[in-house]
Amino acid sequence: MSSIADTFETGPLPQEEIIQVQGLTKTFPNGVRALDGVSLKIHRGEVVVLVGPSGSGKSTFLRCLNGLESADSGTIVVDGIPLDDNPRNRRAIRTEAGMVFQQFNLFPHMTAGRNIDLAQIRVRGTSPREARQTTLELLKKVGLADRVEAYPSQLSGGQQQRVAIARALALRPRVMLFDEATSALDPEMIGEVLDVMRDLAREGMTMVVVTHEMGFAREVGSRAVFIDEGRFVEIAPAQDLFDAPREPRTRAFLSKVL
Ligand code: ADP
Ligand code: MG
Repeated sequence: MSSIADTFETGPLPQEEIIQVQGLTKTFPNGVRALDGVSLKIHRGEVVVLVGPSGSGKSTFLRCLNGLESADSGTIVVDGIPLDDNPRNRRAIRTEAGMVFQQFNLFPHMTAGRNIDLAQIRVRGTSPREARQTTLELLKKVGLADRVEAYPSQLSGGQQQRVAIARALALRPRVMLFDEATSALDPEMIGEVLDVMRDLAREGMTMVVVTHEMGFAREVGSRAVFIDEGRFVEIAPAQDLFDAPREPRTRAFLSKVL
């Protein structure tokens, strides 16, 4: 009954498998099978990069992981919490797994600081004062200490995405999910966002990263997954997958994008 509280109080073991996905299947009402029995275990501190063609199921996988989408079958456990029908568990996992999207989704009528404050106040019930302190720390961390009062329209795409990352971090997630976080950015702004992601990885954040930045994926990923038509075709240490893919389909994909 008190499994969530227990998880928070006793704390996780290091090296624990923080994400366990088993046999996940998702078919949309239109009949498209976006995920076809995928399984993956992720250790704390791992950075798993997910690469594959457009429409292969990458976003659906991430959305299932934090409960934005529900699977037809299979199991997901995040930090000891099963993603089941229990709304309490679903809420807990939404807080544990921070998500960053291609579109930054900041509230346009609120300053950067307020966007980050609000997440904490609404979701965590943090006091406004305490929230602001965390907000300032996080804006500093993403290199935007001086933009707390700026509105999204006054920020570049790269800056907005860094605010969105700070906002996700403000909920103190155990896992960060990135869905093509740099795909909507002008080329000159991609680096600043990847730098923030690289720092997070170095600090030991567990991350699942969907990206088309293959150089980044190879460098920062501990493991890489190649997904095609809703199946995990190949899972390997990131350097191995990019330098010496075993599966013909992985090779064919990489030869097109590298
Ligand atoms: P990716 O992120 O790899 O491009 P997606 O996970 O978005 O792929 O989509 C996987 C497949 O599921 C695609 O064929 C896509 O058209 C389909 N799909 C995604 N979302 C929906 C939805 N809400 N309704 C119907 N089909 C969807
Ligand atoms: Mg996608």
